[in-house]
This record gives sequence, structure tokens and C-alpha cells, in this order.
Amino acid sequence: MYRFFEQLSSRIAAPFIGESSRNSRVWHCRCGQSLFFRNSQCLACSAALGYQPEQSRLSSLQPGPQTDTWLLDADPEAGVFRRCANLDSPAACNWLLPANDHDALCIACSLNHTIPDLSIAENPERWCKVETAKRRLIAQLFSLGLQVIPKTVNEETGLAFDFIGIDLEGKLPTTGHANGLITLDVKEADDAHREQVRVQMHEPYRTLLGHFRHEVGHYYWDRLIANSQWLEPFRGLFGDERASYAQSLERHYQQGAPPDWQQHYVSAYATMHPWEDWAETWAHYLHMMDAVDTALGFGMSARKWTSITSHFHPARSTTRSILAARRSCRSSMRGSSWPACSTSCLGAWGSRISIHSCCHHR
Ligand SMILES: [Zn+2]
Ligand SMILES: [Zn+2]
Ligand SMILES: [Zn+2]
Repeated sequence: MYRFFEQLSSRIAAPFIGESSRNSRVWHCRCGQSLFFRNSQCLACSAALGYQPEQSRLSSLQPGPQTDTWLLDADPEAGVFRRCANLDSPAACNWLLPANDHDALCIACSLNHTIPDLSIAENPERWCKVETAKRRLIAQLFSLGLQVIPKTVNEETGLAFDFIGIDLEGKLPTTGHANGLITLDVKEADDAHREQVRVQMHEPYRTLLGHFRHEVGHYYWDRLIANSQWLEPFRGLFGDERASYAQSLERHYQQGAPPDWQQHYVSAYATMHPWEDWAETWAHYLHMMDAVDTALGFGMSARKWTSITSHFHPARSTTRSILAARRSCRSSMRGSSWPACSTSCLGAWGSRISIHSCCHHR
């Protein structure tokens, strides 16, 4: 992330660098047509397209030396690739993987532990929306230099996703995180349903990507903070996470957020427990980085936006960057009307291992 921060800071301070940027959101086909993150085929010349996550780039493809292998027009020397096996599924995955990879799925799709029941009429479209949001999440994690390890590679420390609906007994799924497994109620992909819940929960916004960013924040807390040198600095800034999660949740339900929460937190839900403060801050940090990077990618010159630079000064590691963002939010938002954000998970906590669940529907 240090590399990313350095790059972003220099890009904010300097004139727009151009379309060759690693983090550009717009790429170009060999025919010159602009390409966007979700495209799998050029709309102008019908060239096949593929996204290479390690290099954060979308490229038109040339047939490779073997059947169903491909070379990148953007960098023919980059190697030989295959397209993800989920390309022709409702997931419509446009990502690439090395041709010699033993897996048929790309890194993003290989994180799936459970996909929606596709015999249910609404689920193919829901799954498509969920996968699009998940790929955006994973692409950003890569661009930040974070490790993305599937549970199929490391059951103990890996990441996986369950995209599920109501079970056979009629029980609603619980959106949340438990020891590297992120569960999402696929009904969250229905815009009308999600908006209804957003209003019920008094949230300023509610998105699939917001859910993922929040929940993956819990995962990276386990990976980056727990049992690390960052635990004490974390406690100094976010509070002591050993405070009872159940009691904190009860208090939050009974009393709500403190009236002056905007002075100290990025969202009302962040006041609930230090873990939620971390996850909310992490999600906001990714939101802000994404927004600024998109603006830069589309040519915004930030020369006159000197106030932004205080938010994004270079940091030395992912953890320090998040802590810096937390401090920055605290100081810069004092007295401001920064929009409250929350994925509004409600939770339960297992004492020894990281079992956190967000239960919107309880
Ligand atoms: Zn083209
Ligand atoms: Zn894929
Ligand atoms: Zn949470």
C-alpha cells in the first residue's frame, strides 16, 4: 500500500499522468475503443478482452499458442493466459489466469465457497451483480498490495465467500464475517430489497461493494492487527477490542450512537465496538481511495485541491495507512457534515476465534 500511496500522492500533487497509469479505470482496445472494468468483448471490433488482476489492467486478447490460450495486446511478453471458466456463466467473469494454472477459475472466482442456487429464477441475475461487486473489491485489494489467499490454498488464514439465500427451514442467512468466510444474503443484490432495508436501518447508503469492503475489513483485522505489533496502536486509536461485543451491541440497540458521534467516528455504527469502528474506517478508506483514483483515472487534475493531500499522505504500510485515515477522519471531519455510512451489521462475537457476524435480519 505504501507504493500505492506514494503513487497516488504524487499523482494528486502532479499534473494528470495519463492513460498508461497502472490504476487507470479506462483502458483501450487495440482498435482504440475505450474499455471498462466489466467488459469481456470490445463493442467496436468484437475483440476478446481479459482483466489481468496482478497488473490491474484490461486488455484486448490475441489467440495464444494453444487452443483457448491468449496473449495480451497490451503486453504480449506478459505470458500466456486462459480466460476464467466463469466467463460463460451468470457470473460473466472477464478475468484471466496463467495458462499453466491448475485451476479453471480466476483468483476472484476461486474465493467462492458457495454460489447461489441457480435453479431459483432470480438468482442468476443476483449472482452476476454480486460477482461484479466482488471483483471490484478484489481488484482494489490487489492494487493496494494486499495478499488475497483463497481458503482452498490455506484453510486457516485464507478468504472465502458464501453467497446464500433462505435455507430449507426458512431461516434467513446472516451477512457477516467469520474467520475468513464472508457470507452474503444474495437478496442484497435486489435493489428494491436493499433500499427497503437501508431505509429501515436509517443508513445513508447501502451497496454490495460497501458490504464487501466492511466485511473484508474484519478479515484483514485478523490478518494485520491481531497478535501483531499494531495491536497496541490500534487500541490507542480505536479502543480496546476486548470490550464485550454482546454488551456493546446491546447498548447500541438500546441507546443508539452518542449524539456527537460525527465528531469522532466515520459512521454511527462505528461507535458500537472498536472492531466495527475499524471495519467502518477500512470501508470508508477504500471508498475514498476508489473515488479519488477514479477521478484521477478520468483526468481530474488535483493541483488546486490542496486540502485533499492531507488525507492521503504517504504511509509505510497498509496498517499505518488505515490508522492514518482514522486520525485524518477524526480531525478533518470535526464539525463537518461528512455523510454517515454504515453497512449496519449487528453482531455476535465468539471469544477465542474471530467469529463476527452481521445480522441485518434478526
Ligand atoms: Zn476493439
Ligand atoms: Zn473468474
Ligand atoms: Zn461488522
